Amino acid sequence: MKKITIAIDGFSSTGKSTVAKQIANYLDYIYVDTGAMYRAVALFALENNLLSETHFNKKTLIEALDQIHLEFKKNKESGKTEMFLNGKNVEKKIRTMYVSDFVSSVATISEVRKKLVAIQHQMGVKKGIVMDGRDIGTVVFPDAELKIFMTANAEIRAIRRYNELKEKGENVTFEEISKNVQKRDLIDTTRKDSPLIKADDAIEIDNSEVNQEDQFHIILQLAQDRIAGRI
Ligand code: C5P
Repeated sequence: MKKITIAIDGFSSTGKSTVAKQIANYLDYIYVDTGAMYRAVALFALENNLLSETHFNKKTLIEALDQIHLEFKKNKESGKTEMFLNGKNVEKKIRTMYVSDFVSSVATISEVRKKLVAIQHQMGVKKGIVMDGRDIGTVVFPDAELKIFMTANAEIRAIRRYNELKEKGENVTFEEISKNVQKRDLIDTTRKDSPLIKADDAIEIDNSEVNQEDQFHIILQLAQDRIAGRI
């Protein structure tokens, strides 16, 4: 059967990764969470004292990019794919507020984007891939057969992220989360290199009022139509 490329972009906490994983599982496609890659680079910068509340040594980070090795590996017990940074499992660390607070600044650096986009291209050469992020339909795979752009009301997104982090046992307040979601939206939409914008040919889904199950079926139908060449 024909394999296609599915690009899912959108604002933070719109549930991109949840639906992308569901679609990839159903179609037996590869799923790639590009946010995890930017998060791992941000963690590298934080752990090497290149980045803090008060300073950001961009030049040293750019020079160190060759020393950053990223790998997605499947956890045999949970079946989930996890991020490894220079051989170390960093899946838990990259999801913390500590990293969320800095990741969007790191993602503004063109050299970082260039490195990660090259890896992402490589992952998608054979198609049969669902990739989520901010610039997948516009920059990484502008020829993707199916592009989805996900949005949702900012407060609803903050509530979702808050519940998710609370479930993981993180000690965060709703205020912090809400601020972080808004800050990342602002940086992501206004940066010079590859800002978050809807591709002209992307289908926009506002899921403020749509449940996960319905959303999965809407996107699956679109994917199956594209695979069959119906639309
Ligand atoms: O998807 P997630 O929220 O984990 O992404 C974390 C951050 O990484 C985003 O807020 C954005 O700044 C950056 N990012 C990006 N381009 C991508 C994926 C993520 O700039 N393709």
